[in-house]
Amino acid sequence: MDPEPEGDDDWTKYADTGYESSYDPWADMVAAEEPEEDDFDDEFEDYEENQISIREIPRCPAPAGIEHAIRIGTCNHCLGRIAGVRIAGDPLDAVGERVRGQALERDPDLKVNADVECCPFCEDLFLDLDLISNRIASAIDGIECSRVQLGVHFAKDQVAAEETLRASIAATGSRPLKATLSDAIQSVVANKVSGISWVKERPELMILFDTLTLGVNVDIRALFLYGRYRKLERGVPQTRWPCRACRGRDGGCESCNFTGQQYPDSIQSLVCEPLVEHTQAKSDAFHGMGREDIDVRCIGNGRPFVAELKSPLRRTLDLDKLTKEINKAAKDKIEITGLRLSNRAEVSRIKETNAEKSYTIRFTCDHDFDEEEVITRIQSLSGQVLEQQTPQRVAHRRADKIRKRKVISIDNIQVEENEIEFDVRCESGTYVKELVHSDEGRTNPSVAAVLEGDCEVIWLDVKDIHAD
Ligand SMILES: [Zn+2]
Ligand SMILES: [Zn+2]
Repeated sequence: MDPEPEGDDDWTKYADTGYESSYDPWADMVAAEEPEEDDFDDEFEDYEENQISIREIPRCPAPAGIEHAIRIGTCNHCLGRIAGVRIAGDPLDAVGERVRGQALERDPDLKVNADVECCPFCEDLFLDLDLISNRIASAIDGIECSRVQLGVHFAKDQVAAEETLRASIAATGSRPLKATLSDAIQSVVANKVSGISWVKERPELMILFDTLTLGVNVDIRALFLYGRYRKLERGVPQTRWPCRACRGRDGGCESCNFTGQQYPDSIQSLVCEPLVEHTQAKSDAFHGMGREDIDVRCIGNGRPFVAELKSPLRRTLDLDKLTKEINKAAKDKIEITGLRLSNRAEVSRIKETNAEKSYTIRFTCDHDFDEEEVITRIQSLSGQVLEQQTPQRVAHRRADKIRKRKVISIDNIQVEENEIEFDVRCESGTYVKELVHSDEGRTNPSVAAVLEGDCEVIWLDVKDIHAD
């Protein structure tokens, strides 16, 4: 099994392409009306000049194009990006500086137009590189990570305006603003933070930088661990179960000893709490391949699960040591094995797996048959398809319908007068207690029906889960 399959996240799409089309921070704004011009002639003259400039000024790398770019206030980074000169590994701002120097040698009177407020390409974003990278470095300070993805978010209008300008002035093939800025940020941050590599898929950390607010948003991806648990003691629920009286609110109540929990332990708490502590995660989730009732043990090879640690600050774990620690603290309650790294895709896999299960069940029955007849009658259920109406005990949370489930096999039937025990293997989703006591005839056929007497379950164990 591949512990790290593809498709862990679809964030790449939103980081690299099309994000601005799905999110427009200006979407709720109403277009302001243009102020009326007093002097029509002035406006007309401006219009004429603009027409001339677009028609007659050649694009970079023509010297007149470069001079025009300098006059309208293009910064060194953007000049390096749009000038169309060979870069040969030099930083963009160094290229831009050189291009500017050469232009000034040709025309010492060349200067930036008086009305220029900022670089028309990047709105001076490249001048903020140091500030941006400091913000990112401090936002990820203290988080263990090696695979980091950067998303840069621009306002839609800025992207469009820059593209139009680039199309009229820049050398053919000049790189877009977004990709260039993203690269520049990545190289500056990499110089400040050691041990990170920039990735486009399966990141541990996703950084979103907003060019509008210069805000940095960090998303620490969850850490997933796969394993199997054996539940050795009855009365432990699989997941945390809020107190029925207080629903776990406001620090609990008297009836739950102010724990907020109906039961002191759960498999989730026994497995995840040590993991949360080691990873310094914010919270956890527990995904089991199905679940057994609270009064049912789960033995054999145990039940597969994936523990999800949300927003962990640490990712390097000694899994053997952790396994021992968990098993020691949960001694006689649960035991885990086979802990390894996993991922979100495996959560879906184990949720969707319909594994056959084997159970051992023990019950009482007031039958009138001898041992041989009891065994024959119970054995007759092997291979049969049960019709099970939703049991009364779960009817409050499950739709009332009839499910068909196959009894694969019945073995090892033991009869001690009125106490009977057997092993049964059946399809995923079979209600095994109901197979025995029939739920007042709602499961058909049943052990109670073939033995023509009332059956009462003493205990049930999951003997094995037949998953990979
Ligand atoms: Zn610029
Ligand atoms: Zn309570």
